[in-house]
Amino acid sequence: MSDTATPQKFEFQAEIKQLLDIVIHSLYTEKEIFVRELVSNAADALEKLRHTQLTEKEIFDDKLELEINITTDDTAKTITIQDFGVGMTRAELVENLGTIAHSGSKAFLKALGEGGAKNTNLIGQFGVGFYSAFMVAKSVKVYTHSWRAAEPGQLWESDGGGSYAVEESDGQRRGCKIVIELKDECAEYSQDWKMKEILERYSAFVSFPINLNGKRINTVQALWLRGKNEIKEEEYTEFYKFQAHAFDEPRLRLHFSADAPLAINALLFVPQENTEKLGFARTEPAVALYCRKVLIDAKPKDLLPEWLRFLKGVVDSEDLPLNISRETMQDKALIEKLNKVITKRFLKFLDEEAKNRPDAYNDFYKEFGIFLKEGAAMDFTHKEQISKLLRFESSLTEKGKTTSLADYVSRLTGDQKEIYYLVGPNRAAIESGPYLEGFKARNLEVLFCYEAVDEYVMNNVREFDGKKLTAADHADVKLADLPKPEGALSEADTKTLTTWLKDTLGERVAEVKASDRLVDSPALALNADKFTSPHMRRMMKAMSKDKDGPDAPLRVNLEINPRSAVMKRLFETHTSAPEKAKLVAEQILDNALISAGLLDDATPMVARLYKLLESV
Ligand code: ADP
Ligand code: MG
Repeated sequence: MSDTATPQKFEFQAEIKQLLDIVIHSLYTEKEIFVRELVSNAADALEKLRHTQLTEKEIFDDKLELEINITTDDTAKTITIQDFGVGMTRAELVENLGTIAHSGSKAFLKALGEGGAKNTNLIGQFGVGFYSAFMVAKSVKVYTHSWRAAEPGQLWESDGGGSYAVEESDGQRRGCKIVIELKDECAEYSQDWKMKEILERYSAFVSFPINLNGKRINTVQALWLRGKNEIKEEEYTEFYKFQAHAFDEPRLRLHFSADAPLAINALLFVPQENTEKLGFARTEPAVALYCRKVLIDAKPKDLLPEWLRFLKGVVDSEDLPLNISRETMQDKALIEKLNKVITKRFLKFLDEEAKNRPDAYNDFYKEFGIFLKEGAAMDFTHKEQISKLLRFESSLTEKGKTTSLADYVSRLTGDQKEIYYLVGPNRAAIESGPYLEGFKARNLEVLFCYEAVDEYVMNNVREFDGKKLTAADHADVKLADLPKPEGALSEADTKTLTTWLKDTLGERVAEVKASDRLVDSPALALNADKFTSPHMRRMMKAMSKDKDGPDAPLRVNLEINPRSAVMKRLFETHTSAPEKAKLVAEQILDNALISAGLLDDATPMVARLYKLLESV
C-alpha cells in the first residue's frame, strides 16, 4: 500500500500541460469565466448528490444543505468556492483533474490545432472547465470528501506548472472546497462587489442557492423551466425586468418548450418600445443562451435572425454543450437548428396574436413592424411567413386602420392578378395625387405605403399568394377600359394633341399618350425608367454626396386625360395661341412631375407661371 498521508506528486497528462500553458499565458481572454466554470462544476456535483441520495442509503455528512458558498478575502487575495456535492475520492481526483477526459477541453485543443491559437477569444468561448481557474490563480487547492463515508478526505494542490500533489486531509466536509490564491494582477476578483457582478451575470439562475460572503445571490428563478400555468403575471414581469435590465412592462410574451428536434425551453419578450426608432444605436441581440440554467452567451449572434434583434429573453437547451463553440461545425449546426425552431415558433405566435388579439398586434406592429419588413425583404427562408404579418392602410380602409395582404387577396374579384400599392409620404398625399383615381374608378384596391423602406420591401417580397405586388404608378400597369364618358376629345383630336405635346416638350418626355387611368386630373407622369421609381430616385439623391450636383437625366411618359377641361382648352389654343399653349404644356408637365415627386428644380416653373399670369 502506498503512503497516502504524505503528499504524492503527479505529472499532468501532456495535453493538460499544453492546455495550462495556454490558459496561463493568454492575456486577452475573458478571465472571469473561471467563476462560471467552477460554479457549474459545483452545481453539477450537487445535482449528482441529489441523484445519489435517491439510490444510496449511506451518505457521508447527510445533513448538509445542497448549496454553494463562496467567500472572498481581499486581504489574503483568495476566493473560496465550497459545495456540498458528491466530492471526489483520491482516484477520482487523479482521474478528473489530472487527465483530460471531458469534451470541452478536448474540443478546445482541437480548435487550437486547427489554427485557432491566434484567436484570443477561444478560452472565453470554450471555457476550459476546472483549468480556467489557473488564468487567475497562483495556486489552487481542492479540499474534498467523497459522499462515500469510507473514503478519507483529500487535498489536491497545484500551481498550474507541470505537476500536482494529492494528500489525505482530515476534517473535510462532504463535497469540494476550492481555494484560489489569486495572482497579484487578478486581485480584484477577491472584491465582494466584483464577484457579485460576475455571479449575477453567469450564474443567476443556478438551481442551488449560491451565497456570497453569507448573502444569497440567485433569488430570481429560472422561470423558463417552470410550467406556464403556475407562473403569475407579476413573476413574468419581474423576470423580464431582471433579465433584460428593463424598466418597462413587456408588450408580448411567448413561453414555450419543445422536445424535438431539440430540447428547448424558451421565454421571449417584446418590450414596449423600439429603441432604434427613437434614434438609439442598432439593437444588439439580447436573447441569452443557456444550457441547464447556466449562461453560455448573453448576446449570441446567430441564435436568432437579425430582424428579431428586438426580442429579449432566454433560450435554454440541454442539448448544448456548456462549452459551445462557434468554431466547430457541429455546434454551428446546433445553433442553426435552434434558430430555425425558435423563429418558426415566434412567427406562429405573432400570427396567432394577430388573429386573437388584433388590437395588441396592431400596436405591436406600429412599433416593431419595421423589423418585420426587414425580415420580409431580407430573410428568404421566412419571407412567406413574415409577409402574412405585414399590414398596410389601403384605399378601402379608414385612415389609421390596416389590412393584411391575405385580406386584400380575399377581396379580389374577377381575374385580378396583381396587388397594387402606392408609395407616398402620407394618406392625404396619395389620395390627392393623380395615380389613385383610375384604380378607384375601377374599384381596384390600392395599398398605401408611407415608409421609405416600403418600396424596397415590396420589390423584395415580389408576390403574395400568387399575386404580383405591383406599384400602381408603374408605366407597365394596364387597366381595363372604362366606358367612354361624354364630351371627351375625339380620338383623332387626342392624337393631334399628344403629337403636338411630344414635339413641344421634346427631350423632357419619352412618350405622350392618352391615359386609361385618369378620371379627374388632366395629366400624370409615369417613370419611363423601369428600375428607378420616383421614390427610389429621391432616395438615391438624398444619399448621394453631391446633393447640389446635376440630377440623373429624367425622362417620363406623360399621360393626358382627353376628358379634362384643361386638355380640351389646350387643344383649342395650341393652334390659336401657340406661344401661350407652349407655356401651358410645360406647366402641365411640371405639375405632373410634382405629383410624382419628380420635380427637382422649381425655379424655372415660377418664372413661367408669372408669364402665364401676365396673360390672364
Ligand atoms: P467538465 O465539468 O466539463 O466535466 P471540468 O474541467 O470542469 O470539466 O471538470 C472535470 C471533472 O472534475 C468533472 O467532470 C467532475 O468529475 C470533476 N469535478 C470538478 N469540480 C468538481 C466538484 N466541485 N465536485 C465534484 N467533482 C468535480
Ligand atoms: Mg465543468
